[in-house]
Amino acid sequence: MSAARGDAAPAPRLLDLHPRAWPERLAAYGAQPFQGRNAARWVFRRGVLQWAQMTDLPASLRARLEQEQPLVSAVLDQRSEAGDGAVKVLLRYPDGARAEAVGMPGTRGRTLCISTQVGCPVRCVFCASGLDGLERNLSQGEILEQVLWLRREQGDFHRLVVMGMGEAGHNLDAVLGALDCLIDTEGSDLAPRRITLSTVGPRGALQRIAAWGRPVTLALSVHSADDALRHRLVPGVRTRALEETLLEADQVFARCGREYTIEYVLLKDVNDSLPQARALALRLRGRRCHVNLIPYNPVQELGYDRPVPAVQEAFAEALRATGLPVTLRRSLGGSQNAACGQLRRRQISAPPSSAEPC
Ligand code: SF4
Repeated sequence: MSAARGDAAPAPRLLDLHPRAWPERLAAYGAQPFQGRNAARWVFRRGVLQWAQMTDLPASLRARLEQEQPLVSAVLDQRSEAGDGAVKVLLRYPDGARAEAVGMPGTRGRTLCISTQVGCPVRCVFCASGLDGLERNLSQGEILEQVLWLRREQGDFHRLVVMGMGEAGHNLDAVLGALDCLIDTEGSDLAPRRITLSTVGPRGALQRIAAWGRPVTLALSVHSADDALRHRLVPGVRTRALEETLLEADQVFARCGREYTIEYVLLKDVNDSLPQARALALRLRGRRCHVNLIPYNPVQELGYDRPVPAVQEAFAEALRATGLPVTLRRSLGGSQNAACGQLRRRQISAPPSSAEPC
């Protein structure tokens, strides 16, 4: 039933607010301004998700907030651990929507990979997340909950990549709001250079990111230098020429001062040939970017494969020979169910598992 005319919209949850707005919100519950700031610190700096653990707040205030302002809405639907140390969690939100987030070990600490939407409207032909299209956007708070869950599961982290399920460029209000909470000194105080924001560059998104201006690393998903093949692999950008998108990425570099990354998933016999490597090098000549080659993580239903290591290396070398900086990524989270969107797809028609409350 739709809300009656004049009904007040429900107040946003705390995690949908910037941490600097927490003191004003918590004043309605009788908290002093310094207690509102302390509460934000408990959450954003120490990863505490329950009011009861915030021992410097009065017990009566904690009890009331636990009832009336629960910090997280999701429950842990599934947790899977790969042999390489990657941990993937599947969160279930109150409406039944599910999103995945992954924590991966790295040389300097863990990297978290989070989702921005449930499903994805871009429908890349090699990706499990796009198979069923878009279910809905995630809110700022729901995006932050993934970070907080992984932190609770695995402790502190070093880097954050916005590269999970969904296209960030189609949900920028929530995504940039969540990143601002993590970057702000009253939030997690995470250095922007430790954040990577991935996008296929839908119309308007890169200009918006440039105007936002935080020096995060932009990761532009390209997958082919040839527009016809790119449009087939990434149907959601079929009205956009790659050159137009690259010119906008150049503007992000001009505004933010950080070189951007070209993401290129290597698909066997599709986009992994030496002429295709040379065409990519030509497109990127003179640009301030780094190429990240990602050998494909096969998804059973989709029929694409990963090139053998020699082909991966040859592609990388062809790019390096032109002077481009290139990383050939080793695959993490590559065990059963671990590729992007696979956990959710396995669960999507299954009844809720014995969910662990937050
Ligand atoms: S690869 Fe990214 S943009 Fe493409 S369908 Fe999957 S989640 Fe969406």
